[in-house]
Amino acid sequence: MDLSAPAPGGTWVDDRIYLDGNSLGALAPGVAGRLSEAVDVEWKGHLARGWDECGWMDAPERVGDRIAPLIGARAGEVLVCDTTSIALAKLLGAVLRARPSRGVVVTSTDNFPSDLYVADAVTASVPGAELRVVEPASLVQAIREAGASLAATYLTQVDFRTGELHDLPGLTRRAHETGALAIWDLCHSAGVVEVGCEANALDLAVGCTYKYLNGGPGAPSFLYVRRELQAELENPLPGWLGHASPFSFEREWRPAEGMRRWLTSTPPVLALAALEAALEAFDGHTIAELRERSVALGELFIATVDELAPAGLSLASPRDPGRRGSQVSLRCEGPLAGSADRLAAESARRGVIGDVRPPDLCRFGLSPLYLSFEQVATAAEIVCDAAAAIGRAAG
Ligand SMILES: *Cc1c(COP(=O)(O)O)cnc(C)c1O
Repeated sequence: MDLSAPAPGGTWVDDRIYLDGNSLGALAPGVAGRLSEAVDVEWKGHLARGWDECGWMDAPERVGDRIAPLIGARAGEVLVCDTTSIALAKLLGAVLRARPSRGVVVTSTDNFPSDLYVADAVTASVPGAELRVVEPASLVQAIREAGASLAATYLTQVDFRTGELHDLPGLTRRAHETGALAIWDLCHSAGVVEVGCEANALDLAVGCTYKYLNGGPGAPSFLYVRRELQAELENPLPGWLGHASPFSFEREWRPAEGMRRWLTSTPPVLALAALEAALEAFDGHTIAELRERSVALGELFIATVDELAPAGLSLASPRDPGRRGSQVSLRCEGPLAGSADRLAAESARRGVIGDVRPPDLCRFGLSPLYLSFEQVATAAEIVCDAAAAIGRAAG
């Protein structure tokens, strides 16, 4: 790989090196212009007629179809609506209702806290349901033990703290072997990791669009339902926009065709406009190509840290790139114990933006679309220099 090549999407952040795109993706070219058009031309000019005249009503499916190839899904399998936590509640509720003889949901201790709060609440509200939260290393055993009582596995592909990847194809296969479904959270996968929804026969997934998809603060989530399951599963939170005929205002709910039945409420049109414009940056790039670049960025960051890290700064992410998402996390220990916040602040003062996951991790997201190799190598040097300065001050 040519390490002097510029980032494929161009440079989006000039004055700093932005390694926090796994928390909030940077502003892509074209988004600001599209947003002002959505406000000044569509909203101001078309007013309520905009729902039909400006494509607002179809945006959840249209933008979903743009995300589909990024996660290896087919057209008509992805809808953009709600937020990740709410979309997870819908999917989990749907699965538990569809298979009342199976009540067990298996998840892991490393799952994102919000995902676990949702799972606690949903399983508590469905009679006979039970949430089993196990160590990641015990997942295969827990799936086997649950056997015919397993309703679903409920996992996040990339660990938000360490960037470690679960074996998505393997765990999905294990769930299927028991007759259960697999629900995957793709928040830290979409746009950087090859998910392969179709290739791996994934059942159900959600993900947020404001991380590596760069949809902007509070951008809605996406929801994926495998085509073959779409008629079987029911939206447990039906609303008028998912009705077969929303403007007939019928008393009884009847589901719309396809993914549209998963809509509950009015689409967030301005947020969808920003997201749709941000996704244009992916045009002409495959996820295979971006994943290859993401791995190379990670390898370069880690090699630089290996060379320059002072005592107390160590790699917390898997060294094997096949087991790592698009982030590198560093642990502060020994002479740097308790210094993760200081290291993030000192790195930011020197122009490198990452973030902290308590108690001891500094996290650096590597967005392959808009980061160059040069920026990532420089960032790793700056972080190591900052850590050395903190260590010297402490010692
Ligand atoms: C970022 C993230 C979320 C965010 O959930 P929202 O409800 O959209 O705020 C959920 N799960 C995981 C794994 C995340 O990384």
